[in-house]
Amino acid sequence: MSIYELPTLETRKTAPNYTREADALEVFGARRTIEEILIHWWDEPARRPTFDGTVNWLARDATQASAHRIVEDGRRARMVDDMDIAWHAGPANVKSLSIEGNPRRSDGDYAAIAAEVAVMRRKFGNDLPLKLHKHYMTTSCSGYDLARIDREARAYAAVKYGTGTGSSGGSSDAPAPWVYTVKAGDTLARIAAKYDTSVATIARLSGVSNPNRIKTGQALKIPSKVKRAPAPWVYRVKSGDTLSGIAAKFRFTTGQVLSVNDALKDPDLIKPGQKIKIPSK
Ligand SMILES: [Zn+2]
Repeated sequence: MSIYELPTLETRKTAPNYTREADALEVFGARRTIEEILIHWWDEPARRPTFDGTVNWLARDATQASAHRIVEDGRRARMVDDMDIAWHAGPANVKSLSIEGNPRRSDGDYAAIAAEVAVMRRKFGNDLPLKLHKHYMTTSCSGYDLARIDREARAYAAVKYGTGTGSSGGSSDAPAPWVYTVKAGDTLARIAAKYDTSVATIARLSGVSNPNRIKTGQALKIPSKVKRAPAPWVYRVKSGDTLSGIAAKFRFTTGQVLSVNDALKDPDLIKPGQKIKIPSK
């Protein structure tokens, strides 16, 4: 069976319009989660819009819209980091990843989107459902066939990663998982990203039924084939700094920074010169 060859991810141009993960609670009233993948097309097919035209359009300040990936047969670009929130489907933004596909919908475009879906699922969960823009609002976007993308994505993952073929349950000679204790501000997506594993793997090992409901103090099993994150490093507070500002600067939530600073009881009281530990990536 031939398999789609994943092109190099283009990252030269990015979208300026998105919400940082750290700001999710403030902006959306909810923490950033990854519960689904939304498949868009980037314009009406009759206009024959191009890949580069779309990248350039989303890279403009004035566009006020964005997406995580632009994908067509032979090309893929990342416009927004996965853990940040792209502006593509209103209420779905805070809980989704987004792919903009070429509206011509060739066989190659289907293969390219399916491969992208497989990559995202490998990182964030093998059962992430696919959705369309029109599931959330009235729009002609998009004409992609989700069942076909799902089928091709699972076939791609089976060949490329051996998932869905009975071999993904962990072999008996795999080292035992280690235990991570959930801290305030943690999300399963962030923990999975931090330890280079998937939400689905942690959920399966730990018996978590709803990956969006984890509690502070809960014990999670992390596959031990992945190495632990290195120790936190230290930031020295400057005049005018706030804890949320420092957290945002390093792309963490205030809760995540607090979770490695046990001595810091009041996030509103930090002084210039004080040392704050920053979680490692
Ligand atoms: Zn759309």
